[in-house]
Amino acid sequence: MNVKVLGAANEVGRSGFLVNCNGTNLLLDYGVLFGRRGTPPGYPVHVKPKDLDAIIITHAHLDHSGYVPSLFVSGNTDVYATPPTFDLSKLLIEDMLKIEKNSHPFDLPELNNMMKNAKEIGFKQKIIKGNATFELRESGHVIGGSTILVESEKKRIFYTGDIKTNGSRMIREMDLDIGEIDLLITESTYAKTEQKPRKESEKELIEFANEVMDRKGILFIPSFSVERSQEIACILKSVNFKHKIIMDGMALKVNEIMFRHLDYLRDPKVFSEAINSSTAIREHSERKRAMNDPCVVISPAGMLVGGNAVFYLQNLAFDDKNGIALVSYQGEGTPGKKLLETGKVSSRGRDVNVTAEVKQFEFSGHADRNELFDMIKKIKGNPKVWAIHGDSESCDMFAKEIHEKFGLETYAPAVNDTITV
Ligand SMILES: [Zn+2]
Ligand SMILES: [Zn+2]
Repeated sequence: MNVKVLGAANEVGRSGFLVNCNGTNLLLDYGVLFGRRGTPPGYPVHVKPKDLDAIIITHAHLDHSGYVPSLFVSGNTDVYATPPTFDLSKLLIEDMLKIEKNSHPFDLPELNNMMKNAKEIGFKQKIIKGNATFELRESGHVIGGSTILVESEKKRIFYTGDIKTNGSRMIREMDLDIGEIDLLITESTYAKTEQKPRKESEKELIEFANEVMDRKGILFIPSFSVERSQEIACILKSVNFKHKIIMDGMALKVNEIMFRHLDYLRDPKVFSEAINSSTAIREHSERKRAMNDPCVVISPAGMLVGGNAVFYLQNLAFDDKNGIALVSYQGEGTPGKKLLETGKVSSRGRDVNVTAEVKQFEFSGHADRNELFDMIKKIKGNPKVWAIHGDSESCDMFAKEIHEKFGLETYAPAVNDTITV
């Protein structure tokens, strides 16, 4: 088998890998790289749709799924993913097209064409395509999120996509019962970083929520709509949080999708109870009224970019009874990052000091350094390793350390690099 890097080399974004199994071509992920403000989005290396035998999407995040519709201007290749991945990809790509009008070389017709060619598969379901066999395994990262095993000519490739080896309150742990591997393509997002154990972050967040409620304030939790929002609701539910929990924005659509795929969750009962007992905001008029008493507001966007988060920020940021809990990654140049670094937000074109108490909590959807090395330890065989999906320092260092610790042949590949197994 021969594999080519199309993207996610020394960067987080535009994942894409082309696997040639003796003439059968599989495309693993095809995502978008979001530029800094004002710069156009980036894409993986171009591939001709007619050369592809199958496209496989690990999970719905746009850096893995967002550019797949570009292959459906007139194409009709089979696309494989789990049912939740398809539902969420559709939602997220539609949203991307709405927010970034006319900045991508495809639109809704191509997305619809992609969905027409969707082949839903479950975990561990083996698919044979030409000279290749492939299957998805649980990744612990997001609902329906998977890793990919490709087998051909007695060689086996394991591509992690994004992983959270321990899973989370919402998602079961990663499946590593995968047999011997000849090539491991692993994400490196937090290869340099150790994270706080999830339980500690949960405890800190609960304490903060109680403090804010005790002083009769409102706690605003801007949060990614896919899963982080639901996870926060479940964490509060798990301690029988007595105050109202408000959910708003795209998180509500994600709730609906998750209700359709309860068997992909670690604990469907806790999820259902948490969401059913929360208050959904569907109309603007409900928004202000809902905040009469001490409560928690969970609303996208996680980095405070656009959406209803702006409304809540303007209404809640300038009262010292209130709290703001940042639970999502804050990208450079985002209002969330600015709030953390300067304590200010923009209000009517001016920078204004926030008086609400602002705290950050670690809730990453990615494996940290310890989890990543734990995974490498559990991989059987003597695989070559590609470290991808991290900044160049993380990929380089991770590759070097894997080589030193395990003696494996390891690279941090560049775009267009190829490898044969
Ligand atoms: Zn992801
Ligand atoms: Zn990713």
